[in-house]
Amino acid sequence: MSFLRGLLWFLLAMLLIVVATYVTGNYEVTDRFTGVFLTVQQWLPVTLNFEQFLVILTVVSLLLVGLFVSGCVAALVFMGGRLSLAHQKVFAQAGASKKEVGHIKEQHQRQYEQLLSFGQTLTKRLDKRMLIQGIVEAASRVVSVSQANAVVSCWLLNFETDTFRFEMGRYCDETFFTKKECLPTEQPFARVLTAQKSLIFSVRDESITLLKPDQMAKLGAATGLLVVPLIVESSVLGMLIMFCHPDVLKGYEEQLPFYNAIWAELSLALAIAIQGEVAILDRLTGVHNREYFMKRFMQELERANRFQQPLSLLMIDIDDFKAVNDTLGHPQGDAVLKIIAKLIRQEVRAIDLVGRYGGEEFIAMLPETGYGEESASAVGSMALAERIRKAVDEEFKGMQKPLNLTVSVGLAVRRFPEDRQVDHRELLRLADEQLYRAKTSGKNKVCAVVPEKPEAVS
Ligand code: GH3
Ligand code: MG
Ligand code: MG
Repeated sequence: MSFLRGLLWFLLAMLLIVVATYVTGNYEVTDRFTGVFLTVQQWLPVTLNFEQFLVILTVVSLLLVGLFVSGCVAALVFMGGRLSLAHQKVFAQAGASKKEVGHIKEQHQRQYEQLLSFGQTLTKRLDKRMLIQGIVEAASRVVSVSQANAVVSCWLLNFETDTFRFEMGRYCDETFFTKKECLPTEQPFARVLTAQKSLIFSVRDESITLLKPDQMAKLGAATGLLVVPLIVESSVLGMLIMFCHPDVLKGYEEQLPFYNAIWAELSLALAIAIQGEVAILDRLTGVHNREYFMKRFMQELERANRFQQPLSLLMIDIDDFKAVNDTLGHPQGDAVLKIIAKLIRQEVRAIDLVGRYGGEEFIAMLPETGYGEESASAVGSMALAERIRKAVDEEFKGMQKPLNLTVSVGLAVRRFPEDRQVDHRELLRLADEQLYRAKTSGKNKVCAVVPEKPEAVS
């Protein structure tokens, strides 16, 4: 640039000298021009005098200089343009890099937050329910549930029926789907089972009939469908079915290795939780097995002492159950056991614990619960026992013998501080005694041992 500018100044100076020479009539220069004129005159096509020659020479020089100057200016403009283009490019590249760095930073921040949340989920691994909740929350973050009409659902394999069952959802429940239990041959389960990896579909995929048509409209722009299998050692424990905006899925695909690692961790935690649960549950009825119940029962007694709270124990026995087996067969008897276990579970609160004590006898422990008139108990155990009895009675009412089933319940209440010396054996004995009383006094009854209320209530 500075070279070109210098050249321009030089040419301008030359031009000025020529003009000045001509104007001032510098004789030495004029002599030289005269010499040139005399030399070239013979070749000129027209006859010119010296003055005319000088004018033409000046005009031609001016034209040449003009041409040269404008050429230089054009070159300068051209090069300047090129340079500014290059500058613009450099600036644009710098801007893009800055944006890219920002994007990567943002992505890292998101991954970091997700890792934290996944970590918190894993620490809850011993409780299957909490773990599933954590997995659903983690999946909700992945598909930005709060930002769009996204929906997340978790389906677990029911090992007994070999079907995928809806377990938990975010912004959806089981009514969102056409069914809450699906065969592994149905879509999208079948395709994901074959692929053994997460797959992306569209809600408009006609082979997928899982979503109710009227719910599809509610999804709005969330037309992408992401199905993630929860796999441990090539066996699929469950699936996450998520509906979200297709753009979210692009981001998901970009970070696929990250998410795959996360799903693997969560699946492992789920496997541990399921295994743990299998070990503590009664396989037929799904309530806790006797060993686990007794362990928890003793722990709860200690807790009741520490926090100075009452605790109630229920023993529930099916009346004349033997007749079901004898007349309808063992499988029918098993089905009845399942139904009654479910009814009991439905009646108790989340903090209560239900177990199968043996054969057709169930046991339930109600922490922080007195008979029902003490200020400490929100729900009286007497009322709860009565609810269970009534629920069973109503379920089988009107059925033919022997299916017109009922239950008898024995209730023992351990008050605090009055009964703090009563240990688990004594409490079990008392509840069993009350059950016997209920049986011998006509069945379909609740009998309770509480000092002030020793009589049968119904
Ligand atoms: P009560 O009103 O006095 O309780 O009479 P009951 O017939 O219910 O009591 P009983 O103790 O005579 O019979 C219990 C029966 O429960 C006997 C046994 O065959 C049956 N039973 C125990 N465990 C199971 C089981 O897992 N499945 C089935 N189907 N039956 C079982
Ligand atoms: Mg019985
Ligand atoms: Mg019995």
